[in-house]
This record gives sequence, structure tokens and C-alpha cells, in this order.
Amino acid sequence: MDIALNIRAIREEIAAAARRAGRDPDTVTLVAVTKGVAPDRIGEAVTAGVAAIGENRVQEVLAKRGAVGERVAWHFIGHLQTNKARALLASGPLALIHSLDRPSLAETLDREARRLGLVQPVLVQVNVSGESAKHGLAPGDLLPFLRWAAGLPGLSLRGLMTMAPLAADPESARPVFRGLRELFLEAAAAGIPGVRMEHLSMGMTGDYPVAVEEGATLVRVGRAVFGAPPGRAG
Ligand SMILES: *Cc1c(COP(=O)(O)O)cnc(C)c1O
Repeated sequence: MDIALNIRAIREEIAAAARRAGRDPDTVTLVAVTKGVAPDRIGEAVTAGVAAIGENRVQEVLAKRGAVGERVAWHFIGHLQTNKARALLASGPLALIHSLDRPSLAETLDREARRLGLVQPVLVQVNVSGESAKHGLAPGDLLPFLRWAAGLPGLSLRGLMTMAPLAADPESARPVFRGLRELFLEAAAAGIPGVRMEHLSMGMTGDYPVAVEEGATLVRVGRAVFGAPPGRAG
């Protein structure tokens, strides 16, 4: 599995999808997802030009951030337990936390960020598909949540994230991505002071070209970069 070649192929797919949608490919950032990937292989991806790394477990972020260092931007993309927020921020602010999905987590992150004297950029995760197993705010709760969370000085609200249902056909994700973009436009139009709608984090290995067509600015791609981790279902 040649990581540099994989990255080049993904960048070409991103550029092609952006062009199909009349978008500038430079407005899309590849977040390489490194769950189960060792630091030396992360280093290979960084050498090949990856500028952003996504992790979904606190312990892994801490260990890998220590090993790989600050030459890349660290993104936290997974479900975050409230009692791990302090440990996560103790390694320094993340470039972005994609998975703010409930008021209790917002309160805890705000408190920890203020205690450390930092402002943590976050995306709000929305459960657009409505699957019961998925985390995220219900779409109807988004605007009230943004209005409330905008008052937390330790957080900087920067956009939205969603996960599409896993499916063989990437087209089945399109309505979910489109739904997130509509919420994004609605939130931007609401003009809530302190809320900056900059980022749409959507799309993974199976569906990132569709996400780019629908407006993604951050695609979170793991398996297409590093291959499927052994023992993990595709
Ligand atoms: C694992 C993961 C990804 C990447 O999934 P791949 O299918 O390996 O590209 C993206 N987002 C989140 C939240 C993840 O946990």
C-alpha cells in the first residue's frame, strides 16, 4: 500500500469532483484519518503532503500527537466522552473538534478551554440521516443550539459535520450531504453573532467525491489513504 500514491489519487478525485460542481479544489482539505495507523505511517502521509490528521480516540490523539508533532493540524472527529475532554485539551487546542453533539459536552469543553486560556474551534455534528445509532443533534435543534453555544467564550463555532449511513452506493449519501449543506446555509443566513459557518465536514472513503460535489470543505478519509486496518470490518 503506497501511501503517497493513494494520496495523489485521492487529491485527483477531489479535484475532479470539485470541478464537476464548479468549485475550486483548493477549498477542500483532506483530513487523513489515522485510527489504527502507527506514527511512522502517519509520518509518511505527512511527507506526502497531508496537512491535517483526524483521530477518533482521545488516547490515540495524545500518543500520536506526541510522536508526530505539530507539523500537521490535529483534528478530533470521533464521539467525545465528557470525562475525556480535559485530557484531550491538555495536549493543546485541536485545530478542530468535529463532533460537538450535545450541550453537556459544549459546557465541559468551554470550561476546560477557558481554564487553559484557549479558544477551541468546533464543528457541530448533526444527525441528518436520523439513524438512531448515530450521534449528533437533530436538524431541528441546530439553530437553538448554535444561538446558545455562541455564548460560550471557550468555543469558536466554525461549521457542521455529519456522517452518512454506510452503504455500498455512494449516491445514497447525497441527500444526507445536501441536507447538511442546507442547514449550513440556513445557519449562515441566521447571522448569529460569534458563529462562523466556514466548514462542512462530510465524506469518507466510500463517498467523499459525492460530499465534495455537495460542498464539503473537509473530507475525512482513512482507508483510501492507509488501507483497511487488519481485523477491522471495511
Ligand atoms: C473512521 C472515520 C472516518 C474515515 O473512514 P474511512 O471509511 O476509513 O475513510 C471518518 N470519520 C469518522 C468520524 C471516522 O470515525
